[in-house]
Amino acid sequence: MVTVSEATSIILSHLFVPRKEKVKIMVSTGRILAESIKADRDLPPFDRVTMDGIALRSKEFRDGLHTFKVSGVQAAGHVRLKLADPASCIEVMTGAMMPEGTDAVVRYEDIEINDRNATVKLETISKGDNVHFQGMDAQENDVLLSPGIKISPAEVVLMASVGKPEVEVYAFPKTAIISTGDELVSIDQIPLAHQIRQSNSHGLQAALHELNCEANFFRIADQKDVLEKSLSGILGHHQLIILSGGVSKGKFDYVPQVLESLGVKNLFHQISQKPGKPFWFGVSKDQTVFALPGNPVSTYMCFYRYIKPWLMKSFGADYLFPSATLAQDVSFKPALTYFLQVRIQNENGRPMAYPDAGGGSGDFVNLKDVTGFLELPAEKNDFKKGEVFSFIPFR
Ligand code: AMP
Ligand code: MG
Repeated sequence: MVTVSEATSIILSHLFVPRKEKVKIMVSTGRILAESIKADRDLPPFDRVTMDGIALRSKEFRDGLHTFKVSGVQAAGHVRLKLADPASCIEVMTGAMMPEGTDAVVRYEDIEINDRNATVKLETISKGDNVHFQGMDAQENDVLLSPGIKISPAEVVLMASVGKPEVEVYAFPKTAIISTGDELVSIDQIPLAHQIRQSNSHGLQAALHELNCEANFFRIADQKDVLEKSLSGILGHHQLIILSGGVSKGKFDYVPQVLESLGVKNLFHQISQKPGKPFWFGVSKDQTVFALPGNPVSTYMCFYRYIKPWLMKSFGADYLFPSATLAQDVSFKPALTYFLQVRIQNENGRPMAYPDAGGGSGDFVNLKDVTGFLELPAEKNDFKKGEVFSFIPFR
């Protein structure tokens, strides 16, 4: 048996090396960037007018001139005009280039135009007023985005602006989700009295889908030879294998021994935690195998606490759990890390964790009422209101 922190470091020292793939930027959100994105020109690429109004030379105004003859119109998307006479001005539109010879923009709201003459109603005008100068945000060849960041629509804006319709992201490992158990039937079946629907695997599939990772689906009976044959085939075609069920001490829990017989190296079996104690983890040359206990709350917790960070870190992305403040005293006697189900409520800007432990690791109904798990360390038994702990969110 290993501790939670030992299990974490074993898992995180066995990251997989992802391939890269190109995707259209429109469908890249949520993916992890695998290339550097550079500015192909200065941003903004020219001195950009930020307000509709007139562009003029501010020195003329400071020298006492308040009425400027309108000598032209500079629209967005048109070649740059030149101010011929410093005593004149050019009407300019947002997004246009600053006309040559001008250095400030006065908004239409701050002028009066009569008979092609614009009178400025302001007290002062400074050089650069309402101008977004070339290269102010980024310069040509600057690295705008580095590998390892999670792409959001904000990054899509950047990629589009530097002319990248497609982007390289990290590819997910070929993934298999396997349920084991003679009691399991598929969710479109009516179970007999002694059967249940295989709900876990769908939860896992949905959790992976949220990360954009698609998985193949398998169900295997609790028979050693069947398990051996099926697993051997699945291992040959997948890099990430997530099993649920069959890893405890039951008479028909064959998963650990079968995995080892198929050449998957056992890196740990059992973590001193509740729920999820029977967790088995192993690797072979090209595969990483997470064999989770079948109890739905255990499966669910283990995915978010161990597998999601493993995936993110394999992509070079940062992955840190937030923290939350315990809102009520809690006691937990066993010398195990306790992943307590909690509901988070923000109070005065602080996430407060309200315990709602549910009816044990088989009670998946309770999951709908909570936000995630608060990680209460094994070294203590009494946890006081106001203490801050790591929080594993699943919403
Ligand atoms: P096991 O880890 O195989 O001992 O299973 C522990 C409990 O979880 C048993 O009550 C199983 O019926 C249940 N269980 C196992 N796999 C699943 C699944 N895919 N969906 C729902 N419950 C499951
Ligand atoms: Mg079972």
